[in-house]
Amino acid sequence: MACSSDGVPSSVSQRSILWLLEAIETLEPALQQAFRDLFDVDVTIGELVLPDHMRKWVERYFGSPEAVLRQRIVKVTNRWTLDATLFNELRARRPLEARIPVELADELARTAPDPFCEPEYNTPEDVFGRIRGRYVMTASNIAKYDGLHGVIIFREHDPLAFDEPLVREMVEVARGWFERAHQVDCAAVYPFFMWNCLWKSGASIPHGHAQVSLTRGMHYGKVERERRAAVRYRTEMGRGYFDDLFRIHQALGLGKSVNGIRVYASLTPLKEKETVLLSTAFDDDLARVMNRVVRCLVDDLNVTSFNLVAWLPPLVPTAEDWSDMPVVVRVVDRGDPLSRTSDFGAMELYAASVVASDPFRVAEALWRCLG
Ligand SMILES: [Zn+2]
Repeated sequence: MACSSDGVPSSVSQRSILWLLEAIETLEPALQQAFRDLFDVDVTIGELVLPDHMRKWVERYFGSPEAVLRQRIVKVTNRWTLDATLFNELRARRPLEARIPVELADELARTAPDPFCEPEYNTPEDVFGRIRGRYVMTASNIAKYDGLHGVIIFREHDPLAFDEPLVREMVEVARGWFERAHQVDCAAVYPFFMWNCLWKSGASIPHGHAQVSLTRGMHYGKVERERRAAVRYRTEMGRGYFDDLFRIHQALGLGKSVNGIRVYASLTPLKEKETVLLSTAFDDDLARVMNRVVRCLVDDLNVTSFNLVAWLPPLVPTAEDWSDMPVVVRVVDRGDPLSRTSDFGAMELYAASVVASDPFRVAEALWRCLG
């Protein structure tokens, strides 16, 4: 086992989110300080008393009674956005299996044909027309989130059958849509890209598609909150918020620069396996890495239903300072689309996210895929 001099595992594969504080101690002092500037970490042990009657059941599900008697829980809070995640030892120990169930393939086949299989007949078009590519085509969203809200419909029905040519074209078409939508309403300047995949993600139609919108006055609240956090961090710390976020993830083995795109498995994931990409532009370089990351999540980490967003800076200069805000892509696993249990409960909606996947295991898989 590769260990640093004080016995703390130094390779990603040996690390665990449950021993985050120990891993931080191996970093150089300036990085430890940056970590403490950005994050608060609390570690606690949850204990319980097990009646004899439950022992067999616990053994079957958790391996041994001891596994549940004392449970290590790590809470990581971003001091600037107050995003917070709780990691539980019992859940984090579960292996991340790669498997797309046969039932899902059957269920998907049953959903075809749907309105997106023939978009020219069954979807409205935007007032500026459609953008047509080889693999995707735009439509106007029939029930809009915002004044300008379009759909990018994949030619392929199966939403998991995307590949690099499709993702690259989708990003190019999204950029084209933002430009044309902006010409319709010059006050609409804040672009947002989203890709919901399969039922758990909120997608109402399983056929592969992404969405684009352009808002006015101020960016969407969660994007604006992040921008304000970056501005405040610069003012109070004198350093770049996203630069420090990435530096820390990279030093821990959770982040890597892949063809100029900064990729990391988040220390405060919103939900399972959340992966973040930071880019200087919403462009072809980002699209290529985005495809590899999402394919890795699907092919190697058993993700079938996911949400992906790109937070994009305004199309034209605005009153706010966007200088510290890169293009941010976030992608998160939404769990088994055939399960009736929602992955979001009261905790996730109103308190903090409870997450089973260990970011170190996600990073290991990502680096296997991304080289
Ligand atoms: Zn279809």
